[in-house]
Amino acid sequence: MLKYYNYDIVFQEIPDEVTLAVNITNCPHRCVGCHSPHLRHNIGETLDAAALDGLLSKYGKQITCVCFMGGDRQPKDVATLARHLHQHTNLKVAWYSGNDIMPRYASLFDYVKIGGYREELGGLNSRTTNQKLFRVSNGSTEDITNRFWR
Ligand code: SF4
Repeated sequence: MLKYYNYDIVFQEIPDEVTLAVNITNCPHRCVGCHSPHLRHNIGETLDAAALDGLLSKYGKQITCVCFMGGDRQPKDVATLARHLHQHTNLKVAWYSGNDIMPRYASLFDYVKIGGYREELGGLNSRTTNQKLFRVSNGSTEDITNRFWR
């Protein structure tokens, strides 16, 4: 079962979108310099379709996108929530994965970020970053990482 620690409405994680970013716990990665080590623990509230609908009832009119931050231990559950959003809303759906390869369910998302955090290379806003953000559309992907460098 997915759980989340907290959420926030953010403006920079996904270019041109106002995003409800949901921080999923039980992260399987161990990035050196991790910005949120508490997300490695299996803590927080249940994140299922009902919980998501609850968040959207509060914030749905303020946002254009929902981004799942993490969830690599249960990708199928993240995919289920993406399907739920596409079926019941017009919101864009994004996934920030810490894996280094495209997730199996990438085609269910409008945006996918891949790559663990490597302190020496920096995050998405660093020109030396190993991380990439892709726009996904009709089965094809476009690397839009350079949108963070302007
Ligand atoms: S993926 Fe994110 S939360 Fe997980 S260890 Fe790496 S930086 Fe921390």
